Amino acid sequence: MPVLDCTVTNCYYNKEKLCCRGAINVEGDTAEEKDATACGSFRERSSGSFSNSCKCEEPPENRSDIDCTAERCTYNNSCKCHAPNVEIQGQNATCTTETMCASFCK
Ligand code: SF4
Repeated sequence: MPVLDCTVTNCYYNKEKLCCRGAINVEGDTAEEKDATACGSFRERSSGSFSNSCKCEEPPENRSDIDCTAERCTYNNSCKCHAPNVEIQGQNATCTTETMCASFCK
């Protein structure tokens, strides 16, 4: 499982740049470059309420199982990510399309 680093701090599942979900979906069926990818698991934290985040007790793991449709990425094997490290970016994102997999590599 890739080590996941996520800078989308406006996401409901983000805790200190780690993801509470344990498994995420990356989208990018026709992606030729990283800008055409997105984190399909993004959920905007309701605005103005920093306390409104995932209530999971345990601190999130730094690894995540990643299903990914960006099949043109070198790390993609049968829609599973095999990158050693993945960085999801999207500071202040308000929707999925404002996020991206910065580790995409054609
Ligand atoms: S590194 Fe490649 S395979 Fe892994 S999540 Fe990003 S785009 Fe998908």
